[in-house]
Amino acid sequence: MTTFNELGVHASVVDSLAGRGITEAFPIQAATIPPALAGNDVCGRAPTGSGKTLAFGIPLLASARKARPRHPRGLVLTPTRELATQIADELRKLSRRTRVSTFFGGTGYGTQLKALQRGVDIAVACPGRLLDLMDRGAISLDDVRLAVVDEADRMADMGFLPEVRKILDRTPEDRQTLLFSATLDGAVDALIRSYQQDPLTFRTDEDKLDGTRVAHSFIHVDRHDKIHRTAALAHQHQSIVTFCRTKRGADRLARRLSDSGVSVAHIHGDRTQRQRDRALAEFKEGRAKMLVATDVAARGIHVDDVDCVIHYDLAGDGKDYIHRSGRTGRAGATGTVVSLVSAEEKGKLVKLRSELELSDVEFDPALEAPKQQSSTPGRPRRPQRAPRRNAKATGHRKAPSGASRNQRRRPRKSAASRG
Ligand code: ADP
Ligand code: MG
Repeated sequence: MTTFNELGVHASVVDSLAGRGITEAFPIQAATIPPALAGNDVCGRAPTGSGKTLAFGIPLLASARKARPRHPRGLVLTPTRELATQIADELRKLSRRTRVSTFFGGTGYGTQLKALQRGVDIAVACPGRLLDLMDRGAISLDDVRLAVVDEADRMADMGFLPEVRKILDRTPEDRQTLLFSATLDGAVDALIRSYQQDPLTFRTDEDKLDGTRVAHSFIHVDRHDKIHRTAALAHQHQSIVTFCRTKRGADRLARRLSDSGVSVAHIHGDRTQRQRDRALAEFKEGRAKMLVATDVAARGIHVDDVDCVIHYDLAGDGKDYIHRSGRTGRAGATGTVVSLVSAEEKGKLVKLRSELELSDVEFDPALEAPKQQSSTPGRPRRPQRAPRRNAKATGHRKAPSGASRNQRRRPRKSAASRG
């Protein structure tokens, strides 16, 4: 176990972490904080809940200096507004004197412009709004010393990489770059090649379901019974995130659950920022025990102590499955993940199973025979809960396969090509 003190983290940050009961570094933090503090580029691949925010937040705060108006010194790019807000909150908790502001669309410009005028040391931004502010001349990235790209794979999925490139192209070439992602292939790898120099690469064995702390089960449910099953699961758990495929579906489910007495909040892309903020706050503060969400709206959202994730509609693919399921079992806690699979979804399940390594997973036998009719009369099947293995949280995910210095020297893009 490595303490933050041993990693060379500033005493005031160590103290503020200790105040929240955080004393020992997670593997990704132990591996990446020292090289990042020393000024190296770092690229980290790790699943949700592995502690990436502190891994970049600590070096970011260490490098922050008082910024000139409109010239932030630190920059974090992140795919969603909710994530931007969470990161900014975390940074503010770690340092009172650093001025941290968020920049994202869906809200007015007034507050963001005013903050820039006063001076923002660290800007946490979604790409669209940041580019917009750059085009208006409201912000300059000329003073950025350290840039962080968080959830790079999600940004790629959401089509943000061209914007991310444009933004990084406008930061000084000798800046330090930290990049974090759950996967490092394809477009993300290309991003690393263009914008990181000789990065220290840290990987954990991600993409595998961690059956030791989180129990996964797939239950065969008649389409019309899904609501009741969801309500029943709500009664068995304290804090639940339920995923729907469509915004309409999320609206409908939230309404019907609320009618049946479950305290529920919901978020999706068509709700206003204020509605989304309020829903998230209700859920975080426990006033709503369930959050109903669509995939996009839930990206990167992190709420502690979610003990159950329900796939009300089956995840579209393996990536989405892992991402959704990662809302529970965070930071070494245990959790339950249940997919409610109707007869209509069996075809999709076959595909999903082939994409996931599902060794430690409980399958409803009814799902093993794709031809079986769902409308067999009889006693409704009780939701099966897979046994929890190692229910005692050890406080750690899988051991990392280790950090390795990437030997290949990657030339930075030439100044001429960075317009
Ligand atoms: P990620 O970005 O990798 O999905 P987060 O940075 O959001 O993960 O961290 C997940 C949770 O773990 C948060 O609640 C965070 O406060 C907690 N956490 C992070 N690092 C530590 C640590 N070293 N010890 C205990 N809890 C931690
Ligand atoms: Mg994160």
